Amino acid sequence: MTVTTLEKATAEKAATVEFRGLRREFGATVALDGLDLTVRPGEFLALLGPSGCGKTTALRMLAGFEHPDSGAVLVDGEDVTHVPAHRRDAGMVFQSYSLFPHLNAVDNVAFGLRMRRVRTAERRARAAELLELVGLGDKGERYPHQLSGGQQQRIALARALALRPRVLLLDEPLSALDAKVRLTLREEIRRLQQELGITTLFVTHDQEEALSIADRVAVMRAGRLEQCAEPAELYGRPATAFVAEFVGTMSRIPGELKDGTVEVLGRRLPADGEVPNGAVDVLVRPESLQVQADEQGSARVVATAFLGAVVRVTVRLADGTEAKADLPAHEATGLGAGAPVAVSLPERPVLVAERIQK
Ligand code: ATP
Repeated sequence: MTVTTLEKATAEKAATVEFRGLRREFGATVALDGLDLTVRPGEFLALLGPSGCGKTTALRMLAGFEHPDSGAVLVDGEDVTHVPAHRRDAGMVFQSYSLFPHLNAVDNVAFGLRMRRVRTAERRARAAELLELVGLGDKGERYPHQLSGGQQQRIALARALALRPRVLLLDEPLSALDAKVRLTLREEIRRLQQELGITTLFVTHDQEEALSIADRVAVMRAGRLEQCAEPAELYGRPATAFVAEFVGTMSRIPGELKDGTVEVLGRRLPADGEVPNGAVDVLVRPESLQVQADEQGSARVVATAFLGAVVRVTVRLADGTEAKADLPAHEATGLGAGAPVAVSLPERPVLVAERIQK
């Protein structure tokens, strides 16, 4: 995909989006429970969270398809809460390809321009330019059923960009695609977004996807914002146990907290976490945990999984707790199921949390 001078005009309009105290109930379901979030101009922000946490509802409120019971949506400081969808200047791509089946690629991309009564020659030129932009310059005459899923999503993206929107809204646009197409397309979307500089909100429940392409990731839980941060911070310094466990792999190992330090796996380490002294769970990333073959070790290997650069070893500690450690392949040789091992934590854990009884 390449960006022309014309497309760059979009960047000059990069918008700030603010959700202020958004609340929305559907019968007994509280879909949004006071959502506060600001998307910076030109930012690629991923809305991440478990199914039903309100991601799509928030996105639809920005598009104008949904309205809050209370709270406001602002674009560049202007309250658009009650502005109808067709006046919102938002381009949207959905999970399902949602192209018009009876229109070819050019006419799908040009559809919004036709609605706005842009002249035929101009809209065909613009559609051709956008198809070029998404790498499908030679597929303009094809109908949706003659295109692969990945190609249809590119067309949907071109269609969303055709009206030079101020914000681009992507609702799980990759989830119907197979793994390989998904990876390529997400990189292309990211590159295109960066080149255009368009403020983008991307809804996903796939944490790996969110961390790999977003400038910042907003983790939602039950209609509220749990934490919004850059990927590295979210992973390394999660604000809550929920974020720590939703983003990346995390094990819980029992420990004893005392005045900012925690005793865990035979060591005392500094610890963060807003919990009282006493029995806690220590949250540990697999790359932080050390596992070594040791005939005297009180832990046992449960399983190993080859992940390419590392081997993920699941161990059972003496108290029955299971934990995961990532080891370079050469350190994992001989660690078959049942092997006795010593497990240690040489560094400060990510977080300590309230003990969950298993
Ligand atoms: P998913 O990842 O599964 O798409 P989500 O985080 O996008 O989930 P939403 O689609 O925003 O979640 O829905 C939030 C909650 O509101 C869910 O419990 C959902 O069932 C409910 N909900 C959303 N739209 C409606 C509606 N039109 N009528 C009734 N309930 C709704």
